[in-house]
Amino acid sequence: MRAVPGERLADLPPVRAFDEATRHEMRVVASVLPFKVNNYVLDELIDWDRAPDDPMFRLTFPHRAMLPEKMFAVMSDLVAAGAPRAVVRAEADRQRRLLHPHPGGQLELNVPRMGGVAVPGLQHKYRETVLLFPAHGQTCHAYCGYCFRWAQFVGMPELKQHLPGPDAAVEYLRAHPEVTDVLVTGGDPLIMSADRLRAVLEPLLSPGLGHVRNIRIGTKALSYWPYRFLTDPDADDLMRLLSECVAAGRSLALMTHFSHGRELSTPAVRRAIARLRGTGAVLRAQAPMVRHVNDDPGVWADMWREMVQLGVQPYYTFVERDTGASEYFALPLTRALAVYQGALRRVSGLARTARGPVMSATPGKVLLSGEAEIGGQKVFVCSFLQSREPGHTGRVFFASWSPTATWFDELRPALGTDPAFFGDAAALA
Ligand SMILES: *Cc1c(COP(=O)(O)O)cnc(C)c1O
Ligand code: SF4
Repeated sequence: MRAVPGERLADLPPVRAFDEATRHEMRVVASVLPFKVNNYVLDELIDWDRAPDDPMFRLTFPHRAMLPEKMFAVMSDLVAAGAPRAVVRAEADRQRRLLHPHPGGQLELNVPRMGGVAVPGLQHKYRETVLLFPAHGQTCHAYCGYCFRWAQFVGMPELKQHLPGPDAAVEYLRAHPEVTDVLVTGGDPLIMSADRLRAVLEPLLSPGLGHVRNIRIGTKALSYWPYRFLTDPDADDLMRLLSECVAAGRSLALMTHFSHGRELSTPAVRRAIARLRGTGAVLRAQAPMVRHVNDDPGVWADMWREMVQLGVQPYYTFVERDTGASEYFALPLTRALAVYQGALRRVSGLARTARGPVMSATPGKVLLSGEAEIGGQKVFVCSFLQSREPGHTGRVFFASWSPTATWFDELRPALGTDPAFFGDAAALA
């Protein structure tokens, strides 16, 4: 794989056809937010005849509107003046802090403790499921412009969260028999060699961790580097490792991430999916709904239909999170709901399994079920797919309707809904 970092994007041959102002904007945005593409993204995913409006181009390349105006101006002056790298970097670090680098209170609220000491590299928000961030899996084969974990990729050490080694994690899991699911995530854990991944997965198969029934691996490698499963030097080792997890009696799920049907269309991804299914792993798919990439019911309907054909089960459709370039990608909730429902109406039940639009918010996973007018008041009908409070899971509640709100924080309880459903902020307000 040949990876191209953000600072070189504006100089790629197909991008040199763009005007100089556009290329300058790309350099400015890439000085603050992380970008990375590779030869597969460039040669097989992006349709250069449609760029810059091509969805795969919008997903992976910088755009001026990804930064707030003022931030763009400050960074643009520095880049245009040819300021030294260290100066640009220091200013970029300052600016990044304004982009809400750790949404959802991940750092403060979800890191578990053992004997009063934080266990780094784990998050335990919902009783049954622990997230595990292997130290070597905290980057990806390419980056999504909308990534909510972007802060991990830009070298701000205090913003990183990862696991030094598997021992503390295993000890924690042993002490928590209520945990049935471990979700190995990143970045992208499949950026790791098969050997390193084995060091993470094998301990989970030990008899002392028999309560961990489901192992999930969150990955976008099928989208950004399907050769990981085909021709990488350790592709066969990786397949063997996945088969072993299944043979050990665990349910293994690849939580794949497809943003657009294009990512399912290349010969390489189709061969990779077939090969993965041969290991006995289950493939599920999730992605956020974002402007410029997939804010169209036809895109989701086509993608879901294709997934069903390929043996990938649609799982979640997320609302874009309030971080990083969210101003560029975010959709009003009412629009996200309309796109999702429009897509549902075009497909059969087998393709209607992606729950959404869902917000991974501080109090839990909030599903936007619909809009309604009740007693003359327009509301969003919501429910908790998962809640930090187990007693709230599955409960329906109401939020006042808004034409512009793009995230849960902007909603308020309606029709007598308990403010506690909205987390501490709303309860105190
Ligand atoms: C979504 C999520 C999970 C997994 O939830 P499921 O509903 O079981 O898929 C676990 N932890 C966190 C922090 C999550 O956001
Ligand atoms: S694959 Fe996931 S972690 Fe990697 S850049 Fe995309 S959204 Fe972020």
